[in-house]
Amino acid sequence: MAWYSREPDSLLPSLKIVSINVYRGRFAPSPTGPLHFGSLVAAVGSYLDARTQGGEWLVRMEDVDTPRNVAGAADTILNTLEIFGFEWDGPVLYQSDRFEAYAAALAQLQRAGLAYGCACSRKEIADSATRPAVDGGLAYPGTCRAGLPAGRAARAWRLRVNDDEVAFADRLQGRIGQHLESDVGDFVLRRADGLFAYQLAVTVDDDFQRISQVVRGADLLASTPRQIGLQRCLGFATPAYAHLPVATNAAGEKLSKQTLARALATDIAAAELVRALDFLGQAVPVALARATVAEVWAWARENWSFAAIPRQPAISVPLA
Ligand SMILES: [Zn+2]
Repeated sequence: MAWYSREPDSLLPSLKIVSINVYRGRFAPSPTGPLHFGSLVAAVGSYLDARTQGGEWLVRMEDVDTPRNVAGAADTILNTLEIFGFEWDGPVLYQSDRFEAYAAALAQLQRAGLAYGCACSRKEIADSATRPAVDGGLAYPGTCRAGLPAGRAARAWRLRVNDDEVAFADRLQGRIGQHLESDVGDFVLRRADGLFAYQLAVTVDDDFQRISQVVRGADLLASTPRQIGLQRCLGFATPAYAHLPVATNAAGEKLSKQTLARALATDIAAAELVRALDFLGQAVPVALARATVAEVWAWARENWSFAAIPRQPAISVPLA
C-alpha cells in the first residue's frame, strides 16, 4: 500500500511544528466520485503556486459529509493524482477521522456564547426566511437566536454572526466582502443529522494543517467570508486566498459529477495537464500534450505565471 494510507490523528501533531513563514498549500477534493477537469485545474493551480515558491503542498480528503462519499473514490483520487505526477507532503488528512477536533471547536464556540442550538426544521426556515443567502438557499432568519422556543430541542448548532463586513483581498478576484448576518445569516456548524458542517471542518483543518495559502476554485469564493469569520471566532490565523476560475459547461454550470463531467483520462495524463495549464492562461506549447507527464511538469515549473491566470470566476469550456 502506498504511503498515503490512512494515519491515525495521533501521528499528525508533528505537522503543527512549522514556521508561520512557510508556504503551505493544499488540495482538498471530496471523494464523491473520480477527479474531473475542474478538480484538475484546482490541483494544478494550487500545486504550481506552492512548488514555484518552495512551498509544501498537502492533500486533504474532504469526506466530512459522509452520506455523499462514494466507496473507493478517495483511493481512486489519490491514484489519479499519482499518475498525474503530483507529489504531496505528509500523510493525507481525512476529515472523517477528525470528529473530535470539530467537536472541540464547536465546544469552544459554545463556551464563548458564539454557537447556539437551533430547533428549526427546513420547512420552518423556508416559511419564515425573508431573504436569500449569497450562494443559494435562504438566510437563516434568527428564530432560535435568543433561545429555543418552549418545548423544542436543538437539532442543529449555528454560529452567531454579526453584520460587520468580513472582507479580504483575493489574489485573483480582488476585494471580496460580505456582511454575514444579511448575506448568509447564522450558519450551521453541526447539522441536524449530527455531522459537522463543511465550513467548520475546513476552517479547523486549515488551521490544524497550518495552511498559509489557499488556492482553490471560485465556486468556493462565497464560502470564504464564513471561514474567515469562523477563524476570528476561534482565534485562528487567516491564510491568503486565490480563487481560480471555475470550468463550466456552455450552460454556465460548474463541471461536476452532477453536470456529468467525465472523469480525467489517466491514459492521456500529459494531455489533460496541458489542457488544465491552458485553461489557467499558461502559454503551454501544444506539442507538450504528446510529451511525458514529467516533461509537462518540468515545463510548468519553469514557466508558471500566476499573473497569466484569468481573473474571471468562471470560464466555459467545450466538453472533451
Ligand atoms: Zn432555529
